[in-house]
Amino acid sequence: MAGWEILMGAGGSRPHPPGSQSSLHRANVARLLGAVRSAGALSQAEIARRTGLSAATVSNIVQELAAAGSVQVRPGLAGGRRVRQVTLSETAGTVVGVDYGHSHLRVAVGDLSRRVLAEDAVPLDVDASAADSLNRAEQMIEDLLCVAGVQRAQVLGVGLGVPGPFDVDTGQIGSSVLLPGWAGVRPQQALVERLCLPVYADNDANLGALGELAFGAGQGQEDLVYLKVSNGIGAGLVLGGRLYRGAGGSAGEIGHITLDEAGPVCRCGNRGCLESHANAGYLLSLLRDTHGADLTVADAVALARQGDPGCRRVLSDIGRHVGIGVASLCNLLNPRCLIIGGDLAPAGDLLVTPLYEAVARYAIPSAARQLRVVTGTLGDRAEVLGALALAMSESAGEHAVVPV
Ligand SMILES: [Zn+2]
Repeated sequence: MAGWEILMGAGGSRPHPPGSQSSLHRANVARLLGAVRSAGALSQAEIARRTGLSAATVSNIVQELAAAGSVQVRPGLAGGRRVRQVTLSETAGTVVGVDYGHSHLRVAVGDLSRRVLAEDAVPLDVDASAADSLNRAEQMIEDLLCVAGVQRAQVLGVGLGVPGPFDVDTGQIGSSVLLPGWAGVRPQQALVERLCLPVYADNDANLGALGELAFGAGQGQEDLVYLKVSNGIGAGLVLGGRLYRGAGGSAGEIGHITLDEAGPVCRCGNRGCLESHANAGYLLSLLRDTHGADLTVADAVALARQGDPGCRRVLSDIGRHVGIGVASLCNLLNPRCLIIGGDLAPAGDLLVTPLYEAVARYAIPSAARQLRVVTGTLGDRAEVLGALALAMSESAGEHAVVPV
């Protein structure tokens, strides 16, 4: 491949003196690739806006990279409009996504052009044993790579989702209270040792945000909040097109803001947290006496859709409680798009309408005016697809082929 070289990330080797024409071109190429890698897919107009490069420069570089097979240009959606989008090439490498829920394990294999090549999910008591859960993931990865016809050596990286706060500095699950079977375990390091591959880890809400951003309802958005409402409540925050994790990885723990100082004790040890007034367990506890102990969240949502007044009332109350928390988020971050995911998302308008009403009541009007609330389009695949997106954005640039 004469005339081309492997660029090792945006800061790659510099064979030309800084300031030379060639050095400037290389820097522009790296900047463009970085923007595409980070977003997954961008129109040329978006690339120009995010990189500060002129439209003509973007067009020239995209043509060069497409001719070299490093990027692809194909139809896509941005902000609801059909546009031609630039993605990294499908031949640029393969990534793996692993998503642990409390009761399931889902694994997917994809390429850098965002095609999902193979995917599977199994029910699993993830909390019970970290070792068993890691063994199962390793086996599923091997099986799915086989299905996809990909050698392990072709895998650039693995995205890993865990259902709880994840300390980005220590690599440990943040709180043993929230995930007792994994206390003290460094899941990222454990998978690195088993797979001998780079592993990038994050919590489920952050990965849900990345999943919807790259593959679902958040495509083309730069400022969005993904709110997962399941057994717990957590938010993934995308600001300026990038995931915001905070200093230690705990940004977005909206489930533990205080709604009622005299309320019930939460699993975090505080009292009256939003989560204890709005999660799936709360929903079932309110309906147990009237609808039976066997009622599931899916049953309650289905009954509410059929008009059951008790189920509708409880979902409405949960929507209102969540809306109070979202109003605070609006005042802080002024997001344009809120995507509801998790087990309660199928309730749709039954949850979203009272949520909107609470936001309108408690947020300042200028912070809530632009907010659009939608349910996610990826369902329970949001986290594993987010794990793929994380692995893509973290590892793709290391093998990008760029012109010298
Ligand atoms: Zn709490």
